[in-house]
Amino acid sequence: MQHYDYLIVGAGLFGSVFAYKAMQLGKRCFVIDRRPHLGGNLYCEDMEGIHVHKYGAHIFHTSNKEVWEFVNSIVEFNRYTNSPVVNYQGKLYNLPFNMNTFYQMWGVTIPAEAKAKIEEQRVEAVARMKKQGISEPRNLEEQAQLLIGKDIYEKLIKGYTEKQWGRKCTELPAFIIKRLPVRMVFDNNYFNDKYQGIPIGGYNVLIGRLLEGADTRLGCDFFAHREELEALADKVVFTGAIDEYYGYRFGKLEYRTVRFETETLDMPNYQGNAVVNYTEREVPYTRVIEHKHFEMFGAEVDNCPKTVISKEFSSEWTEGGEPYYPVNDEKNNALYLKYKELADREERVIFGGRLAEYKYYDMHHIVEKALGLF
Ligand code: UDP
Repeated sequence: MQHYDYLIVGAGLFGSVFAYKAMQLGKRCFVIDRRPHLGGNLYCEDMEGIHVHKYGAHIFHTSNKEVWEFVNSIVEFNRYTNSPVVNYQGKLYNLPFNMNTFYQMWGVTIPAEAKAKIEEQRVEAVARMKKQGISEPRNLEEQAQLLIGKDIYEKLIKGYTEKQWGRKCTELPAFIIKRLPVRMVFDNNYFNDKYQGIPIGGYNVLIGRLLEGADTRLGCDFFAHREELEALADKVVFTGAIDEYYGYRFGKLEYRTVRFETETLDMPNYQGNAVVNYTEREVPYTRVIEHKHFEMFGAEVDNCPKTVISKEFSSEWTEGGEPYYPVNDEKNNALYLKYKELADREERVIFGGRLAEYKYYDMHHIVEKALGLF
């Protein structure tokens, strides 16, 4: 059996970028994954000539030039710009919160009117907090109302967030909502980042190229063959869940998981956009993704006679399922730190990625982290 420099547990983005950089330095890498495919949650399945994001929509965006140049050196990216639409009780609103949204919500047509409307609602929120003797927002609800006011919070945020996280907005950390930009211009680009797009040919091309030259084994459970696998390499790069790595000895970290109901429809264009969020509590799914819009534009949409959509249902993760979103509240973060203390003492093991670092990372953070190690 060949001996490797690195055993990389998990063939997702972190493991793949790590492997690529290590191989450039002449290191030998053995990449394993318990799933039957490479790419982790970036994996796409070809259906009707459409790349279906099997584990939810992935849109690459970054302001880090080095990260952007790195991924583009592997595969060319297209010009996809994420501009999700909200459907609330049959009425449509643009995201992120911008002049289009404010017009749809209040009929205001100029920034000064929108600002005045938000300020009026902010003042009410501050007054409510003051009454309770609070100056800083303690949770997502207070943060959202300070950021954007009660109307938008109630129609576009509350229901969606409570469905996605399975927790009341008053029990969620404020930082989650700080991800969303607020803009006084008519600009529906969801991200503030300088660069964004989707790899041409889909994410499997990106992962396939990153892992070219590495030995890989799929359907391989690290925990079932731990000793034998660890003996194959000098060092281990672990990208799975950190609590599982330590046998859940301090208790289990909480994650949210997502279930997808995917359908092929006999029409070229179902919803006219890649992402439509359903923000009412009563609709059981959070959003509907129409995959072709990530990579087909203009006439290409109609030239492809079918379409594939996925409805996303969010629920609490249980063992055996796929963990998606770490629940970075105080309780879980404190538990994570106990595991991290153990991890920091490991000499042979590098921990990296959303699950191993228990952080709500986007793809660009992962690439940045992995490149940073070199
Ligand atoms: N969010 C919301 N309404 C929306 C979309 C997002 O309230 O229509 C909130 C929600 O709390 C969510 C957070 O914004 O958890 C971040 O959303 P994002 O789209 O960045 O999440 P991801 O794409 O990573 O699931």
